Amino acid sequence: MNLIILGAPGSGKGTQSVKLSKELSFAHISTGDMLREAVKNETDLGKKAREYMQKGQLVPDELVIGLIDQRIKQKDAERGIIFDGFPRNINQAKSLDKILNENNKSVDTVINLETTEDVVIQRLCGRRVCKKCGAIFHIKNMPAKIEGVCDHCQGELYQRADDKEETIKKRLDVYTKENAALMKFYQENKKFISLDANHDADIVYKEILDLVNDYNKNTSRAATSA
Ligand code: ADP
Ligand code: ZN
Repeated sequence: MNLIILGAPGSGKGTQSVKLSKELSFAHISTGDMLREAVKNETDLGKKAREYMQKGQLVPDELVIGLIDQRIKQKDAERGIIFDGFPRNINQAKSLDKILNENNKSVDTVINLETTEDVVIQRLCGRRVCKKCGAIFHIKNMPAKIEGVCDHCQGELYQRADDKEETIKKRLDVYTKENAALMKFYQENKKFISLDANHDADIVYKEILDLVNDYNKNTSRAATSA
């Protein structure tokens, strides 16, 4: 099963995807994480992507599509994939369909995390990320047991360069501009479900897990009756 998690910056896409991918043993494919890794390692891609990311703009489509094309061929993607932060516009969505198709895969479900602007701004301003393992914390909502230290690997927590108020506003603008068309695309073509993601992460997680389990039950029933 391959699923896409859509949502604004701060909607919890990353937090939910990490948890879900562990539970289901699916590959977690986050273009944001892959790009940040490239920037950190100063690869050619990283050098090209850096400026866009700092400004809160989208990195050019061909760069992220190239990443996806390579990543979905890896072994851990066989069981299932959770796409987090990709696709972000119609061109990327169409390219994803094409790439998956070439690899005998498809998008099975799209889950949209709905949030209000005040909630996501509050989440992004307080977000802290582990330098070593990428785990996500929040100074108020999800504090680490020891301030500044990752609960899982003792790595150092830092604030993402684009989690500053100026850049957050820009990212939200970009999201608002692209997302309506993207949702329309998936509502017309795929199994599309919206969830209220203003709630605590645990509540949202349970709802996502229920959806995935329902989906699996239904598809295995369809397979037996066929
Ligand atoms: P958020 O959803 O909180 O903005 P991400 O980690 O998904 O965080 O993305 C961070 C930045 O990386 C984006 O602002 C953008 O510059 C770049 N990026 C990530 N995914 C994509 C994508 N699919 N297409 C273009 N740019 C992307
Ligand atoms: Zn860690």
